[in-house]
Amino acid sequence: MPPMTARIREFLRDRRPEGPCLVVDLDVVRRKYLSFARTMPDTRIFYAVKANPAPEILKALAELGSCFDTASVAEMQMAFAAGATADRISFGNTIKKERDIATAYAMGVRLYAVDCEAEVEKIARVAPGSKVFCRILSDGADAEWPLSRKFGCDPEMAPSVLEHAHRLGLEAYGVSFHVGSQQRNTKAWDAALAAAAGIFREMAERGIRLKMVNLGGGFPTKYLNEVPSVEAYGQAITDSILAHFGNDLPETIIEPGRGMVGEAGVIKAEVVLISKKSADDQVRWVYLDIGKFGGLAETMDEAIRYPILTERDGDAMEPCIIAGPTCDSVDVLYEKTPYALPISLEIGDEVLITGTGAYTTTYSAVAFNGFDPLKAYVI
Ligand SMILES: *Cc1c(COP(=O)(O)O)cnc(C)c1O
Repeated sequence: MPPMTARIREFLRDRRPEGPCLVVDLDVVRRKYLSFARTMPDTRIFYAVKANPAPEILKALAELGSCFDTASVAEMQMAFAAGATADRISFGNTIKKERDIATAYAMGVRLYAVDCEAEVEKIARVAPGSKVFCRILSDGADAEWPLSRKFGCDPEMAPSVLEHAHRLGLEAYGVSFHVGSQQRNTKAWDAALAAAAGIFREMAERGIRLKMVNLGGGFPTKYLNEVPSVEAYGQAITDSILAHFGNDLPETIIEPGRGMVGEAGVIKAEVVLISKKSADDQVRWVYLDIGKFGGLAETMDEAIRYPILTERDGDAMEPCIIAGPTCDSVDVLYEKTPYALPISLEIGDEVLITGTGAYTTTYSAVAFNGFDPLKAYVI
């Protein structure tokens, strides 16, 4: 189970915040950053801002020397506000409006993701001379939250995209991929690194020397199951880079989002109702004051299974269906695979949902059904 830190426990005990809320322990974020930095000392870290853009998190990471992977002008502004300089910001979204690229360029950003020639042309028009890296498809196998299909081009196509960039006066800088979020397999980077090395060779034959491999995110958060350590990922990735690039090692960057902040957060929520649908119903329904629209969107298809702690965890357990509070029938968290909770659980009990530092606050609806967006405290 992810840590329920003493600082979070004390905060909840002393402040007793009303309503569901996320509490993030910055010490955990700092420790995670340092373990990435220590494990991959020659790799630059670009924190994926979308995982949790709380200003305190961005500021703490900026102070530690982190760079930032951003997907929009607003995320770039947040990184600047946290103290990052333009040379520490990448515009990593492959789908950008040309006027947003122009704004990023005016702010000094010179590093852009592409996955097709049309995107290269936008950048050449409004961000001349910038560095571009080409994202390649990755199947997302073994990931609990795959990102396949939508982003990236076939590795076979990447050389022509990069050559197009070179011809238009951009710096064809490298290759990127994302092996899928919550990637449990430490060896998942190997196939993509083999493809990247092939693209480097092909480009060299065309007289263009690529420099950088962007290894993306994918580093996991500890939910109900154990996950390999940051060190295990670092070792597997380093081994693959050596195997595929030999002595001619590229610059590397990583873009951890979930792996940086997931374990730093705990959501406090409350049991609103416990009921059965018929007299002989085997499985109880437990309704919380937080659901898919309140920040737990990643329970979609029951993909992410969060640990839920109660004050009665020593008691006998039975399987429950867990649902959120809104009047929308998709607002059910776990039903296909029911979730064991204590039989003694009561209406009004507090529950703690751990491992919720990433992809919660920003996925929460503004006010669906009149429920406030998820409040967050960064301590
Ligand atoms: C979302 C995203 C990340 C972060 O992924 P995690 O699995 O949360 O680490 C990294 N890079 C890009 C381009 C992304 O879109």
